[in-house]
Order: sequence, then C-alpha cells, then structure tokens
Amino acid sequence: MKNMIFLGPPGSGKGTQAVKLAEKIGVIHLSTGDLLRTAVKEGTDLGKQAKEYMEKGELVPDHLLIGLIETKVTNGYLSNGFILDGFPRTVPQAESLKKMFVKNNMNMDSAILLQVSDEEVVRRLSGRWFCPTCQRTYNHPSNMPKNEGVCDDDGAKLQRRPDDEESVVRNRLEVYKKQTQPIEEFYRNESILIEVTGEQAPTAVFEDLLKVVNK
Ligand code: AMP
Repeated sequence: MKNMIFLGPPGSGKGTQAVKLAEKIGVIHLSTGDLLRTAVKEGTDLGKQAKEYMEKGELVPDHLLIGLIETKVTNGYLSNGFILDGFPRTVPQAESLKKMFVKNNMNMDSAILLQVSDEEVVRRLSGRWFCPTCQRTYNHPSNMPKNEGVCDDDGAKLQRRPDDEESVVRNRLEVYKKQTQPIEEFYRNESILIEVTGEQAPTAVFEDLLKVVNK
C-alpha cells in the first residue's frame, strides 16, 4: 500500500503519525496545513489569501487547495507513493482528487481514518505547544518541557498555534463535522475506508497503522 489519505479530526494525531509512517515506508508526506502555514509565513499570494480563514479555524476555499494539489499530481511529486495529510477536506476536494487521479493514471489505495472523541480533541489541542525556533512540539500533560514555557533544546519561549486556542479548536471541530466528515462516506462508498482508533498511546496507533499498510 503506497498511496494513502489520512483522515481524522484536528488533534487526532494524524500529522504526527503520517510523518512517521511516511518515513518508515519511504513515501512522500504531504501536509496541506504545513504548505499553507509556510505560504502565510512567506507572505506569498496563496498565504495572503489563506491567512484569515486559517486564523478563524475555517477552511481555505476549495479552488486554492485543489490548484495546489493538482500541481503536485501533474508534476510527478506523488508518483512513488504518498500520504496526503489534510487533503481532501471537503467532498468537492475529494471528487476533484478522484478526477485528477483518473487523468494521471493513478490509484488511491486507502483512506485511513483516525477516530478520536470530541472531548479528547479539545483536551489535546488546548495542551499543544511548540518551539518557534526548532519546531519541537510539547503536549500537556504527557510531554512537557523541563522548565515551564521554554524549549528544552534551545531555551526559546514556547508558543501555541493561533488556531489551537480553545474557541478556535471548537470551531475547527464544528467545521470538521460539517465539511470534512461527509468524505468518510465518500471513501466508504469507494470501499477504501479503513478505521483505526486514535485514542491509544501513539506507539500503539503506529503499530496498528503498520499492520494496515502491510496487509
Ligand atoms: P491542519 O494543519 O491540517 O490542521 O490545517 C490548518 C488549517 O489550514 C486548517 O484549519 C485550514 O484553515 C487550512 N487547510 C489545510 N488543509 C486544507 C484543505 N484541504 N482545505 C481547506 N483548508 C485547509
């Protein structure tokens, strides 16, 4: 299994697991959230258009994301296997992706859904911190720095993503339910949806994922 989509609410751990799994099986990890955050930081046209939506926890308009992914599909960036993390996030995005794949003779092997409850999402995201210098991440209460609020590696003051504030987290969850959850049905109908429980230790989730991809 080499061509995969990762689905799951914000805070399901899909980003962390996708990075690890992609490295382990030697495929590209493509996170649209990371691409957009870089675009915002660099102040590109895409970044300027996306910033306001991201700060509110809303989805960036479909056509911007579809354009972004289409470039990666047509230029061969995904040809040797991939994990898509954060795309598609709406039914129109899923439909466009399907068309792009047909046009480029590519297949989707599976859509892996990491299941996590709402309470756990809010708990996890409101405890998430990162170092702006080295990007190391911390989580309350399981993985905290030795000195409160500063990075163990370089002493920089820890920050949280602006969209991890509790009110924004709740909005992101609502957006997920309304706009993204319907694509679970889309992939169930395509017979490629695989569900994995995200509410266990990260190492146990990873083992389950390895079992799925090695089947
Ligand atoms: P993430 O890091 O995946 O949680 O994405 C962070 C933010 O980027 C989301 O809350 C959206 O505002 C935006 N975003 C990322 N991927 C998409 C997508 N496929 N469609 C629309 N907006 C997206």
